[in-house]
Amino acid sequence: MFEGKNAIVTGAARGIGQAIALDLAAKGAQIVICDLREEWLEETAAAIKQAGRKVTCKELDVTDHGATQSMFQEIASESGSIDILVNNAGITRDGLLMRMSEADWDAVLAVNLKGVFNCTKAVTRTMMKQRAGAIVNIASIIGITGNAGQANYSASKAGVIAFTKSVAKEFASRNIRINAVAPGFITSKMTDSLSEDVRESMLDAIPLKRFGNPEHVASVVSFLASDQAAYITGEVINISGGMVM
Ligand code: NAP
Repeated sequence: MFEGKNAIVTGAARGIGQAIALDLAAKGAQIVICDLREEWLEETAAAIKQAGRKVTCKELDVTDHGATQSMFQEIASESGSIDILVNNAGITRDGLLMRMSEADWDAVLAVNLKGVFNCTKAVTRTMMKQRAGAIVNIASIIGITGNAGQANYSASKAGVIAFTKSVAKEFASRNIRINAVAPGFITSKMTDSLSEDVRESMLDAIPLKRFGNPEHVASVVSFLASDQAAYITGEVINISGGMVM
């Protein structure tokens, strides 16, 4: 599916980002994986190498505009192309608005929304020259429905959805496709910290009556990044077990 293609995945040390990197690699892509600390990427890199694919690890904070621009330029000149970008890095700092600090608001918006802006801007010049490229942003159903205690997170993910649609319109004429996925409850470190009560009540709200796993998200991301989705841009696909229809 991705033979000869170069892909970048942010926040790939674990969870959904790790599964996306592994799926793209298993389908033939050469991968650059990024996270806050290079050493955290060792597990993902080892699994990709085991699958017989080339992988490069990069230490990158997606909130750093300058570092993102120069690193992605370096990747483009080293690898010759950037065909796929997956904007996966994301954080939560949950709390009711009355108790939410400015720092928690700023941190979530900086990683989840500005990070997507930084990385997208950093690849578009290369993709424009190529007259081809696919970007997949990891949003959330919370960006569609909202959620008490997640005003910062929901605002960031709603922003990612609107950003995806706007940028899809800007770059469609250059054959650059930009789509998003909106996962529901996916088991990962981000969701492991939730109490049993919260997990039970969420399960009640999922028509398929089970939580998703990172591989469920990865397969849809690979589809959107592939030529199988050649006529899809500006789309948001929910991966929520029917939680949002
Ligand atoms: P995760 O296990 O916390 O993984 C996120 C990765 O991103 C971590 O390795 C994290 O590093 C890294 N990261 C955080 N800030 C970064 C930064 N500034 N620059 C680069 N990397 C950074 O989360 P996940 O559950 O796999 O979530 C992945 C994406 O899916 C996120 O965008 C999340 O919002 C979205 N999502 C998740 C769910 C779910 O149910 N899990 C549902 C909907 C959407 P640290 O170890 O330092 O945090």
